[in-house]
Formats: sequence, C-alpha cells, structure tokens
Amino acid sequence: MGEIYHGLGVSAGIAAGRALLLESGPDSADSTGEEPTEPAGELARLHRARDEAKAELEEIRDRVRRVLGEHFSAILEVQLLLLDDPALMAATEDRILRARVTAIAALANTVRSLKSRLESVQQGYMREHGGDLDDVHRRLERHLNGRRNLRPNAITGPYVLVARSLGPAETVAMVREGVVALITDLGGPTSHTAILAKALSIPAVVGLYDVSRRVRAGESMVVNGASGVVELSPAPETLQRAAEQREAWLRAESAWAPPVPEGLATHDGVPVFLRANIELPEQVESAMRHGAHGVGLYRSEFLFITSAPRIPGEEQHYEAYRRMGEAVHPQPAVIRTLDLGGDKRFRDAFGEPGQDPGLRAIRLCLRRPDIFLPQLRGLLRAAVHGDVRVLIPMVTSKEEVFEVRRLLAHEAESLKAGGVACRADVLVGAMVEVPAAAATADLLVEACDFLSIGTNDLIQYALAVDRGSGAAAAYYEPLHPAVLRMVEFTARSGREGGRPVSLCGEMAANPAFTGLLLGLGIREFSVEPRALAAVAGVVRTTSVRRAEEFARVILTQADADSIARMLAVETGDGTSAKAAT
Ligand code: PEP
Ligand code: MG
Repeated sequence: MGEIYHGLGVSAGIAAGRALLLESGPDSADSTGEEPTEPAGELARLHRARDEAKAELEEIRDRVRRVLGEHFSAILEVQLLLLDDPALMAATEDRILRARVTAIAALANTVRSLKSRLESVQQGYMREHGGDLDDVHRRLERHLNGRRNLRPNAITGPYVLVARSLGPAETVAMVREGVVALITDLGGPTSHTAILAKALSIPAVVGLYDVSRRVRAGESMVVNGASGVVELSPAPETLQRAAEQREAWLRAESAWAPPVPEGLATHDGVPVFLRANIELPEQVESAMRHGAHGVGLYRSEFLFITSAPRIPGEEQHYEAYRRMGEAVHPQPAVIRTLDLGGDKRFRDAFGEPGQDPGLRAIRLCLRRPDIFLPQLRGLLRAAVHGDVRVLIPMVTSKEEVFEVRRLLAHEAESLKAGGVACRADVLVGAMVEVPAAAATADLLVEACDFLSIGTNDLIQYALAVDRGSGAAAAYYEPLHPAVLRMVEFTARSGREGGRPVSLCGEMAANPAFTGLLLGLGIREFSVEPRALAAVAGVVRTTSVRRAEEFARVILTQADADSIARMLAVETGDGTSAKAAT
C-alpha cells in the first residue's frame, strides 16, 4: 500500500495521476548560495532557466487559451512579460557579475528589492503584479535548481496539481488539459479554490498540511475528492480500482438528473425557488439544463480575475451580464458586485495598500470608483435585456445600500443623458454574510429589494474561524446555534418586510440541511448546478409544517453536536448532516 494522507475532500470525484508541483518551496543550500562563484557559468544557468521557464509558460498559456479561452490566458501573458523585463533579468545579471553570487541568490535579491519597490507604489500596474512576480520567481528557481523540473512535457499526464495553496487566479490559470485533480496543503471547504474546483468538476482535497513538500515531481497518486484521502505511489491494483471508480463517477456525473420543475413546491404545496451559483459564464447553460430558476449568485470577481491585468470596462460588464440575463430569461440573474480584497486576495486588490481583511468587497468598491462605476453602468444597461439584479457583498449597514443606490441613480442619469438605454429601477439586494448584517436584518431589509444569506462568510465571521484554514476546520460549524439563529432571524425579517430572502452559501447545496433550512424560513436556495437535483428532491418530499416544528426545537438547542444528532435522526442519515457545509 502506498503512503496515505487525509485531508478535506472539497470537490467530489476520483482521479489518478502524476504530481505536477506548482511550488518547490524554499530550497536548501542552493537558494542562499553566497559562496564565490564563476559568473559566466551562473549567467548561462540563468539564461537557460529563463528560456526553459518561457517555453513552459508559453505551452501552459496556449493550453489554457484552448481550454478556457483568451481571458484566462492573459494571466500567463503577464508572467511572460515579466520574464523579459530588464528590471528582473538585467538586474539579476548585474548582481551575478558584481557580487559574484549564484544565479539563485542574485535572483532572490532582485525579487526582494523589486517587491519592496512595488510595495511603496500606492497604485497602478506594477503594484498589481507582486503575485505574478512571486510565481515567476518560483518558476525560475525551479529551473535553476534543475531538480524539480516541471517542464510539462517531462512528466506525462494525467496530472494532479500539487501546491501549498492556490489562489482563484492560479487555479484558473493552472487548470490545463490533463489536470485531473488538485491537492493543497492549505485551504478549507468554502475556499474559492474549492468552489472553483467544483465548478470545473475537478476532484480536490485541501488541508493536507505539508503534502506539497513530500510529493516528488511525477510521483503517481490517487485522489479521492469525496473522502479526502490521497494515496501516494499506490500499488498497481489500487490504480486499477481507482480507474474503475473514476469511470463510474464520470458516468454518474453525466447521467441524466431530473431537472428542477418550474413550479417546484414542498410536499405541502409551499413554492420554493432553486437558483444556480455561477462562477464562470459557461456554467449558465448547464444550470438552465438542470432546470435552475435563474442565477441566484454570479460571483463577478471571476470576471475581474480573468480580465487581469486590466480592470474590466463598462462594455465588458455589460456584455457579460446581458448574455447572462438573456440566457436565463424570464428568470432572474443576480449579479454580485466585486467581492475581492481583504482575505480574498487578488493582486493586492488592485493596488489597495496593505491586505487589511476589513477592506474588502463593497468597502473596497466604494473607495475605488474606477473599479466600481463601470460595473454599475454595465449592470444598468444589461438590465434592459432581462431580469438582471444587483447584489452587494459584505454589507454591514443600510448606509452602504443607500450609497450604492445613489451611485446607480447618478450613473443611470448620466447614461440617459448620453442616449444610452438602461434601467434605473434595477433591483438591489444585500448579502447577509457579516454578523452585523444578520443581527440588524430587520433594519437592513428596509433598504433592500431582496436579501441573500452568504453562510460561507457568515460562519467564518460568527465563529471566528478562517474559511480558508485547514487547521481550524473543526470550528467551522454550519450547525452552530448562532448560525442557525441568524439564518432564522434574517428569513423572518425578510418575510415581515415583504422582501424575498435567498440562501446562497455552500450550506444551501447540502441536501441534509434542506429540510432544516425550509423550517427556518428559507424559500429560495442558490446552489452549484450539480446540487440542484438533490436539493429539489428533498424539497418535494418535505412538509414545511413539520420542518417548522422541527426547526423550533432545534433553535432551543445550545450546541452543534446535539443539533447534528437530531438532524441525523430527522433525515434518517447518520453521516451527511456533518459531512459538508
Ligand atoms: C458566502 O459567503 O456564503 C458566499 C456565497 O459568498 P462567497 O463564497 O463568494 O464569499
Ligand atoms: Mg461571501
């Protein structure tokens, strides 16, 4: 039997492949290498490494372009430019010649000084590229070391991508033909890597601590994204079994799932809406084929990620939202405005100083009209073509909603004055994902046309546990009474204020929670397209009257464990209630 690792399975499925290491981690003696050295040899080494890194990046870029399109490959374009930038290469050559250090040490020094210069730049192009610089540094260092050669052609696929952690942009960029699974040291079940892996149907296991240091490049392994088990260098029989399981999983994936009926209702006739969470525009078609009642959450940050290094303009927003609105017509398409910044890091959130976790989403957008106004204008114009709605992330007070409404009204005036068609009366909703918003949901609702509960963040902020952390994962508890009470209060506030309330966190996609959520007053769910059929199945067999009685009892419970036990009894399932968020 091979070496077994246990992590958190965050995107179901089975795959076997060879390790494609994204990072080599800090290396030993070579990386400091201050010993006297022979400059000509080091210069040649540097140039060879650059050429190899370039060939590798070009190959990945071409594949990403073929598989995911032009937008996605732009991320890699930036890194190719950096490889040719004299600030990096000429400065490193200069250090090799003058300080007589190894190419690795010279490169590390150059990157360090470049990064400190970038950090002092408040805004703009260069500051956005700290993350790319790190990637390029890692890639060059790997080639300089020669030991962990990642030339994609040197190891034959299928590949399992192995990394310490993956940001959303890296996940998108690295998802290349032949990557059949992802494993990372860090990360949690609601991290964006996990969400994206699910969107792309790629098995993923996170929270494996130091696996990225233990795996050897090209080592074979089996990844089970449901159980979270990773086996390194498995025996041939294990590989054979994994191949059979994968076949079965792929068959099940493509099997016909009954579409959600248009007039979905509970067993006792209460209407329920089931919408789709979308990360990539291509998912809309599949969501509609599954019978989704429109899009309940489009995470527009992926539009920003894929257009990097440029900030998307009004036209780009307009096109994307118009297409989505038309595709789901006459159902709604709820577009969430940019949610980046803070711990959702992306190129230092377009040049904002520092990485203050509090400077995220709407707070960041209100400080950056250059980012936000083109998005609002695009939304106002797209709303002419369908039921396109605006959802504001990380709201903590009514004032933020009013401010967005003021901006929308102002931009609508300006569009009209320029003779551009738009809809000024677009519906505006707030995400309830910060405890402050949940505790004041009765007040917040007065400013909104609808509310959407984001349990992924609500749980992290209510329970003080990082959703991206593997180590504290046990504290990330959707069934904590605090979470359930906030969900109930928000649903009740919406009902009393005459405004619909949806739940769009990952919790909504777990059919083990569907009955409880109905009992807590939720009538709209927004879930990843693959979860639609299962959640619809539970909705149709649930009696709301019974679910409400059950929820009333649950709300008197003081701890998550008793709630999980009671839920397991109620749903007749001892495992699933605790199994996922
Ligand atoms: C949430 O926080 O529950 C949510 C849906 O938003 P995201 O996962 O994008 O933060
Ligand atoms: Mg959120």
